[in-house]
Amino acid sequence: MSWLDDITPPGIKKMFRQQDDKSDALWTKCPSCEQMTYGKDLEAEEMVCPSCGFHHPLPAGARLNSLLGEKWERIELPHTADDPLKFRDTKPYVARLKDYRKRTGERDALLVGRGRIGERAAVVAVQNFRFMGGSMGTAIGEGLLAAADAAVEARAALIVVTASGGARMQEGILSLMQMPRSTIAVQKLREAGLPYIVVLTNPTTGGVTASYAMLGDIHLAEPGALIGFAGPRVIEQTIREKLPEDFQKSEYLREKGMVDRVTDRRQMTAELGAILSVLMAPEAVIEAANDDEGEASVEDEAVAELPEAAE
Ligand SMILES: [Zn+2]
Repeated sequence: MSWLDDITPPGIKKMFRQQDDKSDALWTKCPSCEQMTYGKDLEAEEMVCPSCGFHHPLPAGARLNSLLGEKWERIELPHTADDPLKFRDTKPYVARLKDYRKRTGERDALLVGRGRIGERAAVVAVQNFRFMGGSMGTAIGEGLLAAADAAVEARAALIVVTASGGARMQEGILSLMQMPRSTIAVQKLREAGLPYIVVLTNPTTGGVTASYAMLGDIHLAEPGALIGFAGPRVIEQTIREKLPEDFQKSEYLREKGMVDRVTDRRQMTAELGAILSVLMAPEAVIEAANDDEGEASVEDEAVAELPEAAE
């Protein structure tokens, strides 16, 4: 908050806020190279700065369009109870929810769509950072479970695009409970022998990093994304040591082996398509196998591969 905020009349403030909310602002200034880019040009580049490659935030809907093409089907998520703890900070939690719902047109911070990436079926769950910082409450936990069920049912891969400040403190312990619940969602994919891939975007922190964001079969990250559990300042104060400059950035985590590949957003769909084509058989093959042998026979194969038990 600058001192200007204190002296600006509410009417003017509101006008500016409305302008902020509009994603189709005419010109956007890059915070990295300070270049001004025309809105439509930036959109054509999927919100990546054409001069320096800085990745601006991409709205959740645009992310689904980018990964699944225009032909994706929305998966309706279960409605969870609003404000189970009757929580109030500077504002009641119900009022906060109402405000964000009005602003984003979404019920909570997870958007799930079904479609295909390349030749393979995929369910993509995108965390919407514009909805309360993408924070993980019961709605996200339920949503991830629903997304996992939809993926298993359709024999599709599950891709989760993370962007979150962590657990939603207004839901207290209930939000922390979503960490093991999201782990169960991931487990469902594993049991079904389907790929679970995480795309880490700026920022992915807190309880989200400590659960489903780090459980992928493969982790891709956008360049320069902040990925971590606690913030660098807290860590510095705790260990009393200076941290490296690129600490908790995608590139640093790739070097340390926590991220498999740092991929430009404009190549992300092609990259995921290539990965899925390696990890999954084409649908026609799956269908043919199911017709021949009934249910998938992964277990039978595993048994067949076991050496004969010694007498
Ligand atoms: Zn730039």
